[in-house]
Amino acid sequence: MSKNEYNYIKKQDEEVYNAIVGEEERERVGIELIPSENYVSQAVLEANGSVFTNKYAEGYPGRRYYGGQEFTDEIERIAIERACRLFKAKYANVQPLSGAPANVAMYFALMEPGDTVLGMDLSHGGHLTHGHPTTAINKVFNFVRYKMKDAETGEIDYEHLRQMALEHKPKIILAGFSAYSRELDYAKFKAVADEVGAYTVADVAHITGLIAAGVLKNPFDYGFDVMTMTTHKSLRGPRGGMIVVREDKEIAKKINKAVFPGMQGGPHMASVAAKAVAFGEALTPEFKEYAEQVVKNAKAMEEVFKREGVRLLCGGTDNHLLLADVFGSIGITGQEAETVLDEVGITLNKNMIADEPRTALDPSGIRFGTPAMTTRGMKETEATRLAELMIETMRNKDDADKKEAIKAEVRSMCEAFPIPDTFI
Ligand SMILES: *Cc1c(COP(=O)(O)O)cnc(C)c1O
Repeated sequence: MSKNEYNYIKKQDEEVYNAIVGEEERERVGIELIPSENYVSQAVLEANGSVFTNKYAEGYPGRRYYGGQEFTDEIERIAIERACRLFKAKYANVQPLSGAPANVAMYFALMEPGDTVLGMDLSHGGHLTHGHPTTAINKVFNFVRYKMKDAETGEIDYEHLRQMALEHKPKIILAGFSAYSRELDYAKFKAVADEVGAYTVADVAHITGLIAAGVLKNPFDYGFDVMTMTTHKSLRGPRGGMIVVREDKEIAKKINKAVFPGMQGGPHMASVAAKAVAFGEALTPEFKEYAEQVVKNAKAMEEVFKREGVRLLCGGTDNHLLLADVFGSIGITGQEAETVLDEVGITLNKNMIADEPRTALDPSGIRFGTPAMTTRGMKETEATRLAELMIETMRNKDDADKKEAIKAEVRSMCEAFPIPDTFI
């Protein structure tokens, strides 16, 4: 892990220094199973901490509001060109500050206030930014929902999706999720969208890296118009968002206008530089191998949960994440599971399951995934062992001796698989 000694912070600001080295140590000695987290390379960290943070660059390469843009233009062009290669896109906007603002910009680019989006039900895996009642965007646009047909297989109810589309005439049909473990049938989404004249957008925030590596299907191969995404989850880049457009120039223009000046001011150019570095890494054969291993590790964990009789939503996984109904199968709530696993050095999050019988704050499920542990170099053997340790911990949540032994084993696994500095 980091060779950075933070000498200036150490001398100048001890409080902040202590928090940074504390976080470094936390990441070093624990297993990260939150499926939206990852560890970036030192090269990405360097770019993210570079002098580009000093520079205002409102506008786009070649069309900026301020002077002094020869290097910001260069770095943004590199990022755009690499993004287009990664996703087989003709246009990319690399300026969104994160996934949520990327989605907001996309909505404003493609719709007028009051227009309708047909998206995945939130308790079936959709994301807050897909119109949760508490979000600002919910006050501007109208959100209607499709669901899974069967939570045991994860199959989307495409017939219901079509009925909803015919009834509500959405401007956008949105495919994408943050808590769903199956591949989507993009062709079916596209067919329905064509029938009602809607744009097709895939919010691939979670699976960005898996699509870039060709391990999961690319929605553009099925004619989707737009993808929104994050760069910090499975893609293993800096925190940030991005919007890519398959081929339509008019859509690309609308997206650019909606990001700036519609939604944001100056882009965070240090993040753009770090995105460029991460995209460069993602274009390598090593990244493809990594992404393949992410899915293999998730499959290995699936096998253990099935063998032990713990119910998995969607019946298993095609991607990097799993959702387990631990309350239904082990009698421990999602919150209790999150807390007791934290005690042994395994970090994941509680999660609602489809048609949740409990509450959002203390739901039945846990969600976990393999992007970060795979970055450490762990393979199926370690994934299998970790899944066994998770179940043992949840089944023995009050057994202090057992938890102590599991914590020691987790720690020694972390020592055997330190977080690497480089991946290529
Ligand atoms: C993570 C996520 C987002 C939001 O990304 P932030 O960077 O946290 O704003 C949007 N959509 C989906 C599907 C996500 O998983």
